[in-house]
Amino acid sequence: MVADDTFLVVRPPEFPARRRLRVGGVVQGVGFRPFVHRLAGRLELAGFVLNDELGVVIEVEGPPERLDAFVVALTTEAPALARVELGADAAIEPRGDTAFTIAPSSAGAGAALIPPDVATCEDCLGELFDPADRRYRYPFLNCTGCGPRFTIVRGVPYDRPLTTMACFPMCGDCRREYEDPTDRRFHAEPIACPACGPRLSMPLEEAVALLREGAILAVKGLGGYHLACDARREDVVARLRARKHREDKPFALMTLDPEALVALDARERELLSARERPIVLARRRTDAQVAASVSPGSPWLGVMLPYTPLHHLLLRDVDAPLVMTSGNRSDEPIAFGDEDARERLGPIADAFLAHDRPIHRRCEDSVVRAEHPIRRSRGFAPATLPLPVAACRPIVAVGAELKSTFCVTRGGEAVLSPHLGDLESELAYRAFVSDLELYLQMLRVEPEIVAHDLHPQYLSTKWALDRDAEHVGVQHHHAHAAACLAEHGEGGPALAVVFDGTGYGPDGTLWGGEVLRCDLATFERVAHLEPVPLPGGVAAIREPWRMAAAYLEAAGRPVPWSRWPVVRQSLAVNAPRSSGMGRLFDAMGALLGLRDVVTYEGQAAVELELLAGATAAAPYGCNAAAGVLRGADLVRAAHDDLAAGRDRRQIAAAFHEGVAAVTATACEAAGSAGPVVLSGGSFQNLRLLHSTRARLEARGFRVLEHRRVPPNDGGISYGQAAVAAARIGA
Ligand code: ZN
Ligand code: ZN
Ligand code: FE
Repeated sequence: MVADDTFLVVRPPEFPARRRLRVGGVVQGVGFRPFVHRLAGRLELAGFVLNDELGVVIEVEGPPERLDAFVVALTTEAPALARVELGADAAIEPRGDTAFTIAPSSAGAGAALIPPDVATCEDCLGELFDPADRRYRYPFLNCTGCGPRFTIVRGVPYDRPLTTMACFPMCGDCRREYEDPTDRRFHAEPIACPACGPRLSMPLEEAVALLREGAILAVKGLGGYHLACDARREDVVARLRARKHREDKPFALMTLDPEALVALDARERELLSARERPIVLARRRTDAQVAASVSPGSPWLGVMLPYTPLHHLLLRDVDAPLVMTSGNRSDEPIAFGDEDARERLGPIADAFLAHDRPIHRRCEDSVVRAEHPIRRSRGFAPATLPLPVAACRPIVAVGAELKSTFCVTRGGEAVLSPHLGDLESELAYRAFVSDLELYLQMLRVEPEIVAHDLHPQYLSTKWALDRDAEHVGVQHHHAHAAACLAEHGEGGPALAVVFDGTGYGPDGTLWGGEVLRCDLATFERVAHLEPVPLPGGVAAIREPWRMAAAYLEAAGRPVPWSRWPVVRQSLAVNAPRSSGMGRLFDAMGALLGLRDVVTYEGQAAVELELLAGATAAAPYGCNAAAGVLRGADLVRAAHDDLAAGRDRRQIAAAFHEGVAAVTATACEAAGSAGPVVLSGGSFQNLRLLHSTRARLEARGFRVLEHRRVPPNDGGISYGQAAVAAARIGA
């Protein structure tokens, strides 16, 4: 609890009035109380402001016209990081106060929202590199406008004792700044300096020397550990790949000079330097000084700017772009506890650059491509998302299996968790369970409804069904569609084109090439890709050549792979049928000779998109009679063109156009008054997205695509929450 008797003496007015205001939204940890204090000072008003568990309470006293001006300015002049929602506003009896104070926080029921972590601001950067400043080169400086929030908060109200900074008593200088209403660190809860704050586990110069010598360093960041190394050195990056057991999936880079590595347009530049500081996937420059093994075979690089003072110091001193990849093995959750990191990253890292400020909550870096989120985590979580139908009872939605997230509702808002990794490992499952508990505590939500996928084998489904609550099963692709509708604040009815790898269909087959007619509560399947067998089940996902073989057979064309006759025998015993669009893309990738075997999900599709590039081509024809899209038609056309020696880039382009064209045809046949939403992991493919959108718009449809949550399974839990809210509300 913070007692603060900062006085600001004002002249009592002749005819005073007093109002009590409740303010919700994001108003804690964003410099809101200092702002209110300054505002009251300027308008010469008395009273107090305090944080409680619902947000902020203000009582303000003075001449009525200045009180009105005060209320208007609360919204119009609020700090950049705040989101102000004015609540109850009551006239109460004046008390004759003569000062405006920041009063101690009070406890109660409910929970204010914690803001996301914010990248180091310009003012703090200025101090970091000013030799005359007392925080010169101090790796943990911050202020009311920047620094850690979500990752260090243990509870609400957001005050220092409820953060992981509680174990660092402020020195006299910091205390003075913290208590001075004119200081930019007035009530900056994570305030710290070299005399009183957190410290690095090794001298920074040592860490810099190690990186320059080619060492792999585990670096403790904001929401977890990174593995860092010099991105220019092929031998070093290759060693990191080998130790991390990550074959081809690109590594993210942190750099002070992104323009030297990637070609950026204005929008990408803006995203890169936004306060959320996401990883931005952009086109690699041919002269970029980066080891080839950073992103093998891909013209894309994921780059981000430094976002903590420690990162700024490291980047500046090492003077090279650094690989900054999540501290984990393959698709495990990121390590954030110090002991856990030592254990899991010890075999990968040559040394640890840690510090003694505990991380309370894991939060990985966010990833965007163009304006589309691929992973929504640090900087965005736990900012709320809209629920078009408010949840009349608290809901927790547990997501799917890969790219796991969960989502908790409070009335008309949904709080989506950061990325948790793939829920296949025991480690990820434990992270899921413990992070969910942390969230429910933070939001003070006791879920009455648990929404889940229909897939009975998902660990998330099993967790949900074990929970003593009302269960709402949500079909995977309906959840994708609902996520896209909900993020735009819409409730349907709509058509939804949902293309992804595999999701459980209510008919026992695997879905994933779906056109649905839906609203938030209900859906109907109006068209779908014709199912083909997955030879060998999951093996067919790892080995796209199997999909190519299955499709070639369906197309009545010869199968060139010599392994096929053996694998073909498995069709009788292990070949679930799938209408997944991702599998059709896999098949095309293998057919065009891109790769027979993939090392990460969606790799073949990514490479097929690259091959197509911006090549113009007329679409391949594809029969869509009775709502069954004959994917084999596209494969047949591609096969015949390939045999005739047509350029593979043109074939890849004609295939993309063919999928987009038949999709538009199917939507037109289904007909709808509402919009068409585009969702599912296949729409991370921008050629497919843009072409489908253009063809739908040419037919007069209004098209919605993802801007706030990922089209992949990272958005599923949010969609499940939106569906559950609509069903229980109906
Ligand atoms: Zn700052
Ligand atoms: Zn200090
Ligand atoms: Fe999916």
